[in-house]
Amino acid sequence: PSAMREVMLELPNVRWEDVGGQTSVKQQLIEAIQWPQKCPDAFERVGIQPPKGLLMMGPPGCSKTLMARAAASESKLNFLAVKGPELFSKWVGDSEKAVRSLFAKARANAPAIIFFDEIDGLAVTRGHENDGTSVADRVLSQLLVEMDGLDKKVIVIAATNRPDKIDPALTRPGRFDRLLDVQPPNQGDRADIFRIHTRSIPRSPDVNLEEFARLTEGYTGADIKLVCREAAVAALDENYDIEEVSMRHFKFAISKIKPSDVKFYK
Ligand code: ATP
Repeated sequence: PSAMREVMLELPNVRWEDVGGQTSVKQQLIEAIQWPQKCPDAFERVGIQPPKGLLMMGPPGCSKTLMARAAASESKLNFLAVKGPELFSKWVGDSEKAVRSLFAKARANAPAIIFFDEIDGLAVTRGHENDGTSVADRVLSQLLVEMDGLDKKVIVIAATNRPDKIDPALTRPGRFDRLLDVQPPNQGDRADIFRIHTRSIPRSPDVNLEEFARLTEGYTGADIKLVCREAAVAALDENYDIEEVSMRHFKFAISKIKPSDVKFYK
């Protein structure tokens, strides 16, 4: 149990309207997580099982973590987040126990979502240059054991930007069998994301978010968040008493922040 003090339990406060674009992924999360929470009897009546494990695949900075937290908030589920590689580094020599106690903690705080970011960092080495007894192998086996015996009130979401590195054992039926394709934002999505990240920034009337969306091809949601922040800082830089952030501040921020131009391996 001492090891698990390191995984924080949260009740996130992220709404679906805080996520720009991603209409289809949001809808799939609502159907897979919110509906069964709201009407478990209905699922039983029609004889289907809600999914236990979902795998989000997509480049960094494109709202995988944000959407997982929104899914938890919107259904009032506790949220436990852990990065795949942390299971090795934080609990050296005790990684399987870390996996076991993570799931135990989720059960104790059910209904809950466990979020595994960088799940590929868990599953890379299995079966290749070793005899199946490496730490990575044992952690993965323990994860599979936990998935197979999962409580109905615990949902597991995993995320990766390297789906090519995922061990096929993880995506078998009953495990992470619901695949969600998270794409970088298109122009309309970017306008949406600008709208979200300028909600608390007082803007001069000349500010045109649609134009920013056109100027930011290749920017991720995380990049856009940074642009909005930089624009506000640029305004302050100019004048500490400034009351509005103007077009020129945003244009300066866009020229300063380079797009991540994420590639998505598939
Ligand atoms: P990683 O793979 O690095 O974990 P990720 O896909 O999980 O990346 P997030 O951590 O969710 O990305 O994104 C980082 C931040 O960027 C978010 O907290 C949010 O503020 C902003 N952001 C990213 N995408 C969006 C979006 N579609 N709408 C609003 N904000 C976004």
